[in-house]
Amino acid sequence: MRTREHRQTERRSKGRARVSTGRIDEPTGAVATLWRGGEAVYDRGENVCVIGAGLSGLVAIKNLREQGFGVDCYERETGVGGAWNWRHDRSPVYASTHLISSKPFTQFPDFPMPDSWPDYPHHSQVLAYLERYADHFGLREHIWFGTDVTSVQPSEDGRWDVTVNGARGGGQSRTQRYAAVVIANGHNWSPKLPAYEGIEDFKGETIHASAYKDAAQLRARRVLVIGAGNTGCDIAVEAGQQAARCWHSSRRGYWYAPKYAYGRPADQINDMVQALHVPLRLRQWLFHRTLRRTVGNLTRFGLPKPDHRVYETHPIANSQLVYYVGHGAITPVPDVVRFTRTGVEFADGRTAEPDLVILATGYLPRFEFLSPDLLNVDAEGRPRLYLHAFSPAYPTLAVAGLLQPDSAVFSLVHWQTVAIAKWLRLRESAPDRAESFWRRHHRDVSGRFNPARVKQSTRHWFEISHTVYLRALERAMREMEAGQ
Ligand SMILES: Cc1cc2nc3c(=O)[nH]c(=O)nc-3n(C[C@H](O)[C@H](O)[C@H](O)COP(=O)(O)OP(=O)(O)OC[C@H]3O[C@@H](n4cnc5c(N)ncnc54)[C@H](O)[C@@H]3O)c2cc1C
Repeated sequence: MRTREHRQTERRSKGRARVSTGRIDEPTGAVATLWRGGEAVYDRGENVCVIGAGLSGLVAIKNLREQGFGVDCYERETGVGGAWNWRHDRSPVYASTHLISSKPFTQFPDFPMPDSWPDYPHHSQVLAYLERYADHFGLREHIWFGTDVTSVQPSEDGRWDVTVNGARGGGQSRTQRYAAVVIANGHNWSPKLPAYEGIEDFKGETIHASAYKDAAQLRARRVLVIGAGNTGCDIAVEAGQQAARCWHSSRRGYWYAPKYAYGRPADQINDMVQALHVPLRLRQWLFHRTLRRTVGNLTRFGLPKPDHRVYETHPIANSQLVYYVGHGAITPVPDVVRFTRTGVEFADGRTAEPDLVILATGYLPRFEFLSPDLLNVDAEGRPRLYLHAFSPAYPTLAVAGLLQPDSAVFSLVHWQTVAIAKWLRLRESAPDRAESFWRRHHRDVSGRFNPARVKQSTRHWFEISHTVYLRALERAMREMEAGQ
């Protein structure tokens, strides 16, 4: 779909002699002041606005700068790191969080983690790594900290009016106009809270996993953890060691992959097998066989039999859950049917009387600063984007980091933002070719980058196989480069 804004932006690009090469030093140093309905709009020329300075925002700034763009990044917190910045209230990490993905898969391709670090670094090391990354590439000078983006709207000249509210401006709003916007606001901070019958009458304490910070919260308590994602399993393992009693409720049986297989981090083995182009069925067979030979039959531990093949749900990497179930420290239970005043009833008729319930029920993406149609959001609330990144309606609007891979997200977002930067550059250097690329691809919003039949649920909206996704990105970039 070519929108009015698209056509206007194209006309602007074609008619403009100047190709942007650098940045304008201060966001307040606007090249001109425009007016919109009596309000000042500060024109930031060809600069790109990046929203958020978590890992996705940081790589976006770096890769846009490398393509010669001026960048203004707005970050509502006071430091870089996003989810990994445990100092901030919205951070979902807890004291014992370690990477689930191993070091070689987690580090950016152009910025290795120290050799002395372990296979699965602690969250404080991940934050230190992101801070060093920001310093090494001189990114902080492009970031406006303590500044919330409150509105993003297409402007009448085909660009973007971004309204921010920041401590620096005395809490006052200010609107600036940008040539393009890259949203890197993360999708692991807005809790998804299921509506359980009777939960409002439950007299125990109920928290979402995002409010779980430390094992001290569990000590000597009767704890029910709901949800068997990576976070739910981690917390259940802690509760198995610290709480007086721990129940772990999962909707279905899952495959609990150990963090190590054949003496190596398991994601490295998985990657090796994928790189060899081993067909999905054979990979599934190998995985099932490895699990049978190591962990054994999960149902023997009282865990439900998985109702799907491996790779059809997001991988859970946890070597300890089955161990603590085997030691009687964790009682596996099925889905919660309802809450009562004093406890819960499970789908198999069993009951429990916990005094703390932890809802490890995941997160939902939220883009409250823009109208859902700009990101082609469907009736369920899921953005439908080309390569999970490019808005099909607006070629100058992209999202970075909206991915749920079978390995780490870091290097994927690196390459994704390289593609975004190359795309924006192509639009300036060869608008006709850019338009023909756009016509060929922008409607391809199926978002399927996974050979497995992944379960339909919000948890799997952005589930991808890292190899399939990287190949798709590479193809797109090759096409862009051929057009340059
Ligand atoms: C417990 C846990 C463990 C994880 N383990 C791994 C792992 O092992 N490996 C892995 O690859 N991934 C892991 N992840 C996924 C993790 O989310 C990503 O690694 C990464 O944090 C995503 O980065 P991001 O920049 O996209 O989002 P975020 O880190 O969430 O950063 C988004 C930033 O945008 C800012 N922001 C949001 N809205 C606005 C606004 N309106 N205005 C201004 N600023 C705004 C936020 O303040 C934040 O700083 C884990 C996640 C969790 C919750």
